[in-house]
Amino acid sequence: MKETVNGPASHAGAYDRPSASFDCEGHLEVRASAAMSCRRALWYAATGHEPAPPDDAALTVLETGRALEPVVLHAMQRAGWEVTPADATRPTGVVLQLTPMVKVTGHPDATGTPPLFGEGGVIEVKTRGPSAFKRWQTLGAERSHPDSVAQAALYTYGLFGEARDAVIAVMDTGDRAWDHEVIPAERVERALERTREWLTPLGAHHATHGANPAALPERDFEAGSWRCNSCPFLATCLPGDAAESTATPQTGEPEVTDEEARAAVSSYVVAREALREPEGAKRQALDTLKAWMRQRGSAKAELADHTVSLVRSTRYAVNHKKLNALLDAETRREIVTEQTTESVRVS
Ligand code: SF4
Repeated sequence: MKETVNGPASHAGAYDRPSASFDCEGHLEVRASAAMSCRRALWYAATGHEPAPPDDAALTVLETGRALEPVVLHAMQRAGWEVTPADATRPTGVVLQLTPMVKVTGHPDATGTPPLFGEGGVIEVKTRGPSAFKRWQTLGAERSHPDSVAQAALYTYGLFGEARDAVIAVMDTGDRAWDHEVIPAERVERALERTREWLTPLGAHHATHGANPAALPERDFEAGSWRCNSCPFLATCLPGDAAESTATPQTGEPEVTDEEARAAVSSYVVAREALREPEGAKRQALDTLKAWMRQRGSAKAELADHTVSLVRSTRYAVNHKKLNALLDAETRREIVTEQTTESVRVS
């Protein structure tokens, strides 16, 4: 494997180039940030299909992420980390020949060292909405955002030529809290191997078909997946889905008109308002009784023909950060399981 660290690259548009392209030697060159996305999307990008431009909302999300990157790094420095951010105008480019046919390129966000210990490694900065932030803290980076771990691994090998501990630092865009996960060197090594395995068939596809835009690799995602719905090549790859881009009613469920949905929101708001006052009165009364029971030092009392009990319950919390640091991703998967339910919230 050949690893080189380029000198500073021109930054203008450095983050905006296509996710994949062919270089002058005929290698497929893939951006590290897209290295575990969708192989068909990479092929579309490399063979010159025009991606749909991001809409205003997607641009805002993208710009928020970029704007918050230095904020996260400053917060880390204040917390005692030694951080060397990428030069914003001339970031160091990394090139990694991952397979005989595939090169990966990119620009690490920063390198640095945690307070008090460790050698310098790559810091990959991400921003997430509150629920994605929580999901990452609970499940760990390999499971919640494997592409971020792949990116950190590619930068680690590109910069240092070997596996080292890498850090994923994440900011919650909801309350601006930040946290980090150290990916130990052996997991960095595994992430690199996974990425290599994932990209090898795309290199083989290139070797067989040349840069043929009509010879498409298999899709990595099913129609209707969130990855496809936010893919810039959706209209080319799944024209039917792009046409119906708004969700169609689920079969088996009764069809609900917009008028009926509007009426449901009104009923909900009326019912919520009707409940608000008695709920407030109930809470106040219970607070008074709690104070009275504590004063008496008893857990149960008969009062006005009712039994009043002071119920004590204990909650147990798992420190996911410590758990994630102790276990590898496969073992964590057996211990921390995920269940998804659907509910409707009206605000
Ligand atoms: S629409 Fe889905 S399958 Fe097609 S290229 Fe995009 S992500 Fe891949």
